Amino acid sequence: MSTARIVLVTGGGRGIGRAISARLAREGHTVIVAGRTPAKLEQVVSTIESAGGKAGSVALDVCDEASVKSAFATIERQWGAVGILVNNAGVIHSNLVQQTTLTAFRRVIETNLTGAFLCMREVIAGMHSQHWGRIINIGSTGSKVGFKFASAYCASKHALVGLSRSVALEVANSGITVNTLCPGFTDTDMVAESASKLQLTAGMTLEEARASLAGMNPIGRFIAPIEVANFVAYLASEAAAAVHGQTLSIDGGESMG
Ligand code: NDP
Repeated sequence: MSTARIVLVTGGGRGIGRAISARLAREGHTVIVAGRTPAKLEQVVSTIESAGGKAGSVALDVCDEASVKSAFATIERQWGAVGILVNNAGVIHSNLVQQTTLTAFRRVIETNLTGAFLCMREVIAGMHSQHWGRIINIGSTGSKVGFKFASAYCASKHALVGLSRSVALEVANSGITVNTLCPGFTDTDMVAESASKLQLTAGMTLEEARASLAGMNPIGRFIAPIEVANFVAYLASEAAAAVHGQTLSIDGGESMG
């Protein structure tokens, strides 16, 4: 069992974030699940508590500086300083670059990149006080390669790597680690959205579109959310103290090197 910490998982109400929240609660941590849809957050909290874990929820829009500040103030007041931050909240916009509106582009950048920046900015002082911290930024294969129909998404996820590496240098030798974890296509609502878009643009059935996305992976299937969560649990552990500033993949070999 790990030393119990306060964990914040952004976008913890569904998909990969839900799996990460449940997995880190099993380590004995108190997991604060954050996002914009309270009902979803409460479902996750209740599942964790039913399994004997400790959890709470906080309303958070990672794009909104005031919301981020208010969420961290609430967490600090109710539970204490965050020791493990998982910047998981993310959105995708699937379209050709020439059909991507500025509004859509900004929404992706503000959620996937600016949101991680705002949360990291809030958490670092408290981690310094604890002489310990883990920041895990959820990137994507799109942090390492480009994808057609995903220019805004790949731009945001590439930039997240630069942000993580720079912060990693700033906090090095303080007990805090910062890493980016890059899943391949993972079986969540986000992939369902990509499959629907592909269905429309490529004239496929939904099943064909899902098979086409899964087939991009050398292991021929989607990654399961729990597989990502298990990797996060390792990066959040005491054992991972020397894993720092890295861009790590869990993608079945979709991107190599
Ligand atoms: P989902 O779409 O299933 O979930 C995204 C979560 O982010 C939701 O809980 C949503 O909650 C939350 N969210 C979105 N916008 C905001 C916001 N402004 N403020 C706070 N929370 C927000 O996505 P996945 O679980 O699939 O993806 C999770 C992460 O993993 C993302 O960063 C994604 O880019 C990354 N990823 C996903 C892959 C995949 O194939 N699924 C592959 C590689 C990376 P709400 O709307 O209620 O706020």
